[in-house]
Amino acid sequence: MRARLITKFNSIKEWKNYGLNTHSLYLKNQHFKKWINKKEIYIFLHFKVKYGNDNSVKKTINLKEEVNSNELLKMIIEKRKENHKENADIFVFNKPIKSTNTLIEDGEALTYVSEGVMIFTFDKLKEYSRNFLRRRAKHEALHLLGINFHHEDTEVKGYKDDSHCNMQYSAPVKRLCRKCKDALVSFWKGIEYATKQQFVKNTMH
Ligand SMILES: [Zn+2]
Ligand SMILES: [Zn+2]
Repeated sequence: MRARLITKFNSIKEWKNYGLNTHSLYLKNQHFKKWINKKEIYIFLHFKVKYGNDNSVKKTINLKEEVNSNELLKMIIEKRKENHKENADIFVFNKPIKSTNTLIEDGEALTYVSEGVMIFTFDKLKEYSRNFLRRRAKHEALHLLGINFHHEDTEVKGYKDDSHCNMQYSAPVKRLCRKCKDALVSFWKGIEYATKQQFVKNTMH
């Protein structure tokens, strides 16, 4: 179970400002600055997980029934230091993932935005529809790109009631609602303002 806390905003302007201002927290993290500048995302599938020049990540995770997310994250950060490389990484496992206070399994994922790390897990005995995978992938990619909340967690006056959104917990549809899209755009505008660099193509503005 996840704890649910709804944050309320009184206007679209207030909401966009909130998005605009969340960058400071991320930009303080050295990993974040590096991976967004590298603009590369690597994807590792569970059965041939390799990282850098050796397979130490693979060895460690194969010894256990569960993947420990904290250990994995530590390992990834260490490897990046060794390799002098900071891109974003997506890992796909067929084992449950144990994080600090929850077990993630069966199509769920864990995303560390600052560190640029996403860990997916799937049940190896289950077949997933292409549609489901697309919805989940988009949902998690949007977390990785800065949406640090879920659709249901915020209420903003000014947007029409729109419950068909990819950023709902269960990622029921592929489309992203206006509210969540505005948050994403505002977030990157904030990053661009703070770093004096362009990250978003003009078409998004
Ligand atoms: Zn989510
Ligand atoms: Zn939404």
